[in-house]
Amino acid sequence: MSSSNPKQGLLLPETGARAQVLTPFPVGRAYDYRLPEGMTVESGDYVRVPLGKKETVGVVWGEGGDAALDPGKVKYILQKYDAQPMPAVHRKFIEWVARYTMSDVGTVLKMSLSVPEALQSLKTAQAYALPEKMPQKLSSHRKKVLDFLFDGVPQRAADIARAVGCSTTMIRAMADAGQLRAVAVSTPAPCAIRAVTENRLTFSPSQQQVADALRAQAAGKKYGVTLLDGVTGAGKTEVYFEAVAEALRQGRQVLILLPEISLSAQFLERFERRFGVPPAIWHSEVSPAQRRTAWAGVASDETKVVVGARSALFLPFSDLGLIIVDEEHDASYKQEEGVMYHARDMAVVRAHLGDIAAVLVSATPSLETMHNVHEGKYAYLHLAARHAGAKLPEMHAVNLKATPPGRGQFIAAPLQQALRETFAAQEQSLLFLNRRGYAPLRLCRTCGYRFQCPSCAAWLVEHRYHTKMQCHHCGYVQPVPDICPECGAEESLAACGPGVERIQEEVQALLPEARTLVLASDVVTSSKAVNDAVRQIENHRVDVIIGTQIVAKGHHFPSLTCVGVVDADLGLAGGDLRAGERTFQLLHQVAGRAGRGEKPGRVYIQTYMPEQSVMQALIANDRDMFLAAETQERERAGMPPFGRLAALILSSPDEMKLDLFCRKLAQAAPRYDDIRILGPAPAPLAILRGKHRRRFLVKAGRDIALQKFLSEWLSTVKLLSSVQLKIDIDPQSFF
Ligand code: ADP
Ligand code: ZN
Repeated sequence: MSSSNPKQGLLLPETGARAQVLTPFPVGRAYDYRLPEGMTVESGDYVRVPLGKKETVGVVWGEGGDAALDPGKVKYILQKYDAQPMPAVHRKFIEWVARYTMSDVGTVLKMSLSVPEALQSLKTAQAYALPEKMPQKLSSHRKKVLDFLFDGVPQRAADIARAVGCSTTMIRAMADAGQLRAVAVSTPAPCAIRAVTENRLTFSPSQQQVADALRAQAAGKKYGVTLLDGVTGAGKTEVYFEAVAEALRQGRQVLILLPEISLSAQFLERFERRFGVPPAIWHSEVSPAQRRTAWAGVASDETKVVVGARSALFLPFSDLGLIIVDEEHDASYKQEEGVMYHARDMAVVRAHLGDIAAVLVSATPSLETMHNVHEGKYAYLHLAARHAGAKLPEMHAVNLKATPPGRGQFIAAPLQQALRETFAAQEQSLLFLNRRGYAPLRLCRTCGYRFQCPSCAAWLVEHRYHTKMQCHHCGYVQPVPDICPECGAEESLAACGPGVERIQEEVQALLPEARTLVLASDVVTSSKAVNDAVRQIENHRVDVIIGTQIVAKGHHFPSLTCVGVVDADLGLAGGDLRAGERTFQLLHQVAGRAGRGEKPGRVYIQTYMPEQSVMQALIANDRDMFLAAETQERERAGMPPFGRLAALILSSPDEMKLDLFCRKLAQAAPRYDDIRILGPAPAPLAILRGKHRRRFLVKAGRDIALQKFLSEWLSTVKLLSSVQLKIDIDPQSFF
C-alpha cells in the first residue's frame, strides 16, 4: 500500500529538496513534490499541491527523492498551511485502515480531510461587548446584559441570551441603540474545556466502583480495552462521563462514538449538565460551518470532546487520550460504502496505536466483544442493577399461532388488551415494527401482479403518509395507482403485510381516543424533528408511539410502561450470520424502553416461533445463556470470532460479462488448506440500482492473513472496467 514509513519531525530545509505528499484521492501511495525556495516542511504538514489540472490539499507523508522520477516532472508544493501537522499516530492509523480494508490510502486520507476549507482561516462571528460610553437609564433586563459582559470579553448574542435569559433580538436592539458594541471575533472552537466541573451525580456504591475503575483506565495513559456492560438505565453514561472527566483533567482529548440515531438532544443536554459546555458534534447533519470549526478545533487541540458518529474516528485529533464506543454492538458502526470499515474495531486499533484506553459500552454486547472478554483481551466492568432500583419490565411472549390477530390486523388480543389497559391508566405505549411505510408489498387480487422496483430485485413499499410507492434500496418512487397496470382491474390492489403506518391505522381503530405518533426516518427526517417528537412524548401529548428502530435507543420516557413488538420474527428471516444476535439486541433494547420511570413496565413480543432460542432468551431475560449458545454454534461452524470472513461483491449492468468474470475469478483462486471460497452466488439482492450482483465469501481460519490471500488472488486476474469489485473484510451484512 503506502510506500514509506513516516519519519517523525522530519525537516526538509534545503532548496531542491522533495517531500512525499499524500493526496485525498484514490491513490495507493504518496508522491514526490518539490519544495519551493524558503519553504520547510515536516511530516504531517498540510500543504496545497497541483494534481493533474487541479489543486488539492494534501499531507506531507515523508521524505521525497524517488530516483526513478524524471526530475523535470516533479511539481512544486504551492503552499503550506498554518496548522498543526497531522500527528504521526494519525498517519499510522490511516495507513493501518487502508491496509486492513484493502483500500487506497488516499481514499482513507480523504475521510480525515473531509473539510479542507477548515485549513483556511476561520470565519469570524458577530459578537457584542460593552460600549465605549456606559449608557445611563437602562431597564433592569438590559442592565443584566451589561453586567454579564462586565469582564470585557465579547460574547455572541446566543450565549448572552442564554446566560441572561433574554432574546437575541433585544441584544441587537441594544447594539442599534449604542448600548452595546458589535465586534467581530473569530468563531471559537467548540467544547474548549479548560477546567473540569465536578458536577456529577451521587453514585450508588456499585456505580462508584465502576467509575473509579474507568477513571483509573483513563489516567493510566496506556492501551487497554474495557467493556462496560449493564442494562439500559443502569447509569453507564453517567459513569463513563467520569472517565471522560479524568482524561480532560490530564489535558487530553476524548472521542465519544455513538450510532447516528442515538445522538439525541437528551444526550447532549446530559453532557452539558455534567461538563458545563456542549460537546463538539460530528455527524451527517452537522452544518458545514460547524464541521469547519470542529475539524479545526480538534486539529489544534482546542476542542476537547467530540461526540460523533463513526466518521468522527477519522478526525485528526492532536492529543487523543480516550475513546468511548457507546452501543458498541450497533450495526451502524460498519460503513458499507467506500472504505468498508467497522468503527468499533478501528477505534480499538486507534487506541492501540495511540497507547490509550478504549471503553466499549453496551447493554447487549456483541458476541465478538464478549469473546474478547472471555479470552482476557478486554477488561470487564458490570453495572448490575438499574439506577434507583427501577425494575426490569415483565416479559410476555404472544404466540401468534395460538392467538392470531383478526383478518387484516396485526395486533393480537393479548397486546390489544394491554394497550387498552395502559391507555386507561393514562400511561404510554410503544409499538415497535422495524418497517417504514404502510405495507411492504402491494399486489393485484385479480391477476397476482406485484409492484416491483424497475432497477432492483425488490418490491415497492407503499407509503400512505407520503402517498407513493417506494423502493427502500434505491429510493425509486412512483405514485400509487388506482388500477392494476397489468390487468386493468379496478379496486383490486391489496396491501400485504404491515408497516408502521398501517399499525397506526389499527391503533386508531382500536383506541379512537388515543393520540398516536409514528416515528420513522421518512416521517421525522431531521434530528430536530426527532427531538420535537421526543419532547411531545416526554410531555405526554402522545399516548401510543409506533416506531421503527429509531425508537429503540437513547430516549428515556418516564410514562412509557407498555411495549409491544409487532413482528419479532422479522429480523430472523434471511439466514444472516448475526440474525439471531441482532434480533436479540434490538428487541432487548426496545423492551428496555418500558418502565424506566417509577412505574413498572411490561413487554409483549408477538412471534410465530415462541420456542426459538432468541425468543426464549428474551422472555427469560437471559442474555448470557443466549450468547453462550450462539458462541458454541459459531465455534462449531468456524464462524467469527473463531474464523475470519471476507466478502467480494461483484456488480455489473451486464449479467453475461459478470458471470463470465466470476467464473474466471473462481478458477484463479489459489488453494490453501485453511481457506474456503464459497460462491460465486447471486447476492440476496441480486439486482440493485440496475446492476446485477454476485458474491464470493472467503472463510478462513482465524490466524490466516486474509488480506494477503486476497491480494494474491486478485493479482492473478485482470479486472474489467464494466465489473465493479468491492472487498468487504469482516462483513456484517450479507445482502
Ligand atoms: P445507561 O447509559 O446505562 O442506559 P444512564 O446513564 O442513561 O444509563 O442512566 C439512566 C438514567 O438514570 C438517567 O436519567 C440518569 O441521569 C439517571 N441516573 C443514573 N445514575 C444516577 C445516579 N447515581 N443518581 C441520579 N440519577 C442517576
Ligand atoms: Zn430499487
